[in-house]
Amino acid sequence: MASTEISYLRDELELRRKRLLDASANNVSAASLRELLTNVDAALSRLKTGTYGICQECHESIEADRLLCDPLVRFCLDHLSPEEQRALEKDLTLAAGIQRALLPRADWSIDGWEAHYHYQPASLVSGDYCDLIESDGGFLFLLGDVAGKGVAASMLMSHLHATFRTLAEQTLPLHQLIEHANRLFCESTTAGQFATLVVGHAKPGGKVEYVSAGHLPLFHISRTGVKSREATGVPLGMFCATEFPVCELALAPGDKLLLYTDGFTEMFNAAGDEFGVGRVHSLAKQHAATEPEAMLTACLDEIRRFSETGKQKDDLTLMVLHRTN
Ligand SMILES: [Zn+2]
Repeated sequence: MASTEISYLRDELELRRKRLLDASANNVSAASLRELLTNVDAALSRLKTGTYGICQECHESIEADRLLCDPLVRFCLDHLSPEEQRALEKDLTLAAGIQRALLPRADWSIDGWEAHYHYQPASLVSGDYCDLIESDGGFLFLLGDVAGKGVAASMLMSHLHATFRTLAEQTLPLHQLIEHANRLFCESTTAGQFATLVVGHAKPGGKVEYVSAGHLPLFHISRTGVKSREATGVPLGMFCATEFPVCELALAPGDKLLLYTDGFTEMFNAAGDEFGVGRVHSLAKQHAATEPEAMLTACLDEIRRFSETGKQKDDLTLMVLHRTN
């Protein structure tokens, strides 16, 4: 662990020690307080002897983010007691339920448009962000990927969800919407935390404005072919003051947009080849005339065939927007 983190944890432990001593002076359930005080003292003595942050079972380092949440942790994730393991699983199941409830409804449609998506976390919770919000006669579509995986990423995902839901109510022009969201995200995260994201505004006549903040190319599928649209700016949360150029597309009736996260492109086959953006492009061409739901199914079938082992390493989200008329 970095020395700044160690000194932060030492201060936190000293603070807990003082609070426990204050509380025991008032003699509130003294036995459990005494036990906590013993644990805090043991942690402080581990800091002195240099064994702090080492798992007492396997003697490997304990995950730094867990120590920062709870400085009394003594075991790595692999060596939790059955009781701790059950508590963690319960928390994660609850978090997964909360996250599922944040997703837009599955049969989403609005004046001339329909949207379909597939949201598949690599474990219980996901760092992928997917939302559809009615706005100004049309709707906003959002698909993103928070750096990292697991609980920390899923918390940032719900943070993004709340930010965009709140900002969407103000019906701001797209460049202002994303610049506000970027500043808020930047101010509430640390340097290594950012998100790649596509945010777009689809309107009744088929006009689409979008910003791609460092995200993978999106595909515009029309009768005349499949066009790839590259990122237009840096990821969200990387620089507090930055501009995000807005691009425009015109979708004819029947046209589709395909968006996805890197759980789709970063699948590997038995030979170690990556699925890659090129294969997504081919898939989009191959299924250009397919209905959106069938297109999603075809994409999922294809990566299942490709990866063989079927082991999903990263969170996976796919979204197809369809201009119906
Ligand atoms: Zn361990």
